[in-house]
Amino acid sequence: MFMSNLRYGYSWLINAGTFVYQDLAAFRKDFAKAKHIAIITGAGVSAESGVPTFRGAGGYWRKWQAQDLATPHAFSRDPSLVWEFYHYRREVMRSKEPNPAHLAIAECEARLKQQGRSVVVITQNIDELHHRAGSKNVLEIHGSLFKTRCLSCGEVKANYKSPICPALEGKGAPDPKAKDARVPKEDLPRCDVRGCKGLLRPQVVWFGESLDSDILARVDEEMDKCDLCLVVGTSSIVYPAAMFAPQVAARGVPVAEFNMECTPATMKFMYHFEGPCGSTLPPALAPHESESI
Ligand SMILES: [Zn+2]
Repeated sequence: MFMSNLRYGYSWLINAGTFVYQDLAAFRKDFAKAKHIAIITGAGVSAESGVPTFRGAGGYWRKWQAQDLATPHAFSRDPSLVWEFYHYRREVMRSKEPNPAHLAIAECEARLKQQGRSVVVITQNIDELHHRAGSKNVLEIHGSLFKTRCLSCGEVKANYKSPICPALEGKGAPDPKAKDARVPKEDLPRCDVRGCKGLLRPQVVWFGESLDSDILARVDEEMDKCDLCLVVGTSSIVYPAAMFAPQVAARGVPVAEFNMECTPATMKFMYHFEGPCGSTLPPALAPHESESI
């Protein structure tokens, strides 16, 4: 097997003493046959657009990381501070653009739709870069920076205002020496449903909160339906891909990882393409010679 694969010019990668398969020609055959493609995307895709995650080494906003501020407890203790953090994250997105990975996914969805095939994006990213790239069929399992939820009436609404409220204008500087704005609660983003005026919060899933059950049910449907699954910019052994990809692989459906590194679980999946997904994904999703349109 090893020799015959070499003879056909397949490329291999050495990781921790194992050989890992990155065979684009074989992937392209599965891609050409697929009718329903599920693409799970994670932080790596956003990172290639320069979107900060505020996690890991060097990932700080003032002296905090996301896990300190993206919690219901932090919001109830200091809603002004948490809103400053999210206001900053919303404003940062004004200078960020979808990268070639986002664009390749969106272009593929539009093209395959004309052929009666479907692409769904299941993302943990909250920056809406998939939407901005043109993707239509997106399940945001962690919500969005550009949606709010009212704590009084529960209404969820898209919100692209900049600044989100007058009191946060010019606030949210990430510098560790920046002073907390201490915006009074009544001046933070408030609900505009008639007579409500409840405090709004970002419609994102915080640490310690569970995922929306309706969205999870839709993800399950997509996982049952798909006949090709891509895991992009996140490892298949970590959440959220770890929740979904193994059930697909167990049905015998090809799963392809596009990631900066391989993991001990990579061998469970059919394909692994290593490197920045902005480089590896466009050739993988480009029109196949068998596509009529
Ligand atoms: Zn309300």
